[in-house]
Amino acid sequence: MVLRAPAKVNLCLAVGPRRPDGYHPILSLAVAVDLEDRVEIQPAPALEVVCDDPAVPAGGANLAHRAAALLAQAAGREPRVRITIEKRIPVEAGLAGGSADAAAVLVGLSRWWGLDWGDEELARLGLRLGADVPFCLRGGAALMEGVGEQLTPLGDLPRLALVLASPRGARLSTAWAYQELDRARRQPGDLEAARGRIDGALAAWRRGDRAALGAKLFNDLEPVAYRALPELAPLAARMAREGALGVVVSGSGPTLVGLAAGGEAARTLSGTLATAGYRAAAVETLPGDRGSPRLTPDRNS
Ligand code: ATP
Repeated sequence: MVLRAPAKVNLCLAVGPRRPDGYHPILSLAVAVDLEDRVEIQPAPALEVVCDDPAVPAGGANLAHRAAALLAQAAGREPRVRITIEKRIPVEAGLAGGSADAAAVLVGLSRWWGLDWGDEELARLGLRLGADVPFCLRGGAALMEGVGEQLTPLGDLPRLALVLASPRGARLSTAWAYQELDRARRQPGDLEAARGRIDGALAAWRRGDRAALGAKLFNDLEPVAYRALPELAPLAARMAREGALGVVVSGSGPTLVGLAAGGEAARTLSGTLATAGYRAAAVETLPGDRGSPRLTPDRNS
């Protein structure tokens, strides 16, 4: 069984004050994009996870491993499977790659075992693995609230062409970025104020006004990423200079998301940045019904 696990991009991300349980409430306009890991599930004597990216932990620390073990335990099954991950989503990049793999395993194994689990049940289990897992299970475009688990799907929206770019090898830990945010900011974020900004971005997206949407992208974690990686600012400036209608850090970074006028513009900008030595990819947003982890008959791609 082969699944595609799409990355997630935050076009807008507001972060509220840290809660007593250590989590941060967020409000985010998020969308799945067609940069995808390939996750294969095969029968095996015991649970095993292998990944072609050495930066990804093997064994029980891998989110795909944890997802398989958790679902097996909840369903009373033996996880006798080998999970092979071909990593295309960069690690610690603010693109929810680990959560995407975990969601793919939950979807794949619940089919594999013929479990009769509803979306809500699977999402509740997924949340125990990470706040982004419920979004990765659903895909498409959604408003994320709570710690990310309260999802309002946004239906059909015009597809966006985006450029994802970062300095080669740059990584940022999500936990560290949130700690830095708490340490450095004078005023905790006001989620209600952010709601109006996100509504404005969504309205621009709905009417296909990419220039207006580009001007409304924001991320409360952005200052942390810019401070940690001084090479991000010149990259963002270059993306804007070369045609991006808006540039924002995704998640806890360091990936920069540039909104392009269209697919051709995205490919040109991505090519220019790759030639200049950056990690860059032209991607498109995925509509709701194709955003979630999906089975694919294509075993060799
Ligand atoms: P976030 O979901 O918080 O935005 P991210 O996209 O910045 O996270 P990930 O690539 O998901 O980062 O990796 C987060 C951490 O999870 C890393 O420290 C990585 O080592 C670990 N990890 C565990 N399993 C996986 C996996 N299957 N793929 C990627 N990272 C994994």
